[in-house]
Amino acid sequence: MPIYEYKCGKCGHEYEALVMGSPDSVECPKCGSKKKERLMSCFSSAGKGLDSLAGAAASSSSGCGGSGFS
Ligand SMILES: [Zn+2]
Repeated sequence: MPIYEYKCGKCGHEYEALVMGSPDSVECPKCGSKKKERLMSCFSSAGKGLDSLAGAAASSSSGCGGSGFS
């Protein structure tokens, strides 16, 4: 099932949402706003190819690891 990471365009809260239908129906769990920005997940960036493996190790702290840290 696709889980996407969003950042709310209203309050800036970052959250993950399971999108089964239209992503337009996804609301911020904090303020309820549907205005949002989709963040790149670890899964989608991993599909770019083997060339990104070296970069993935370096960027994991700022990319995937950064948002999941808190
Ligand atoms: Zn919000």
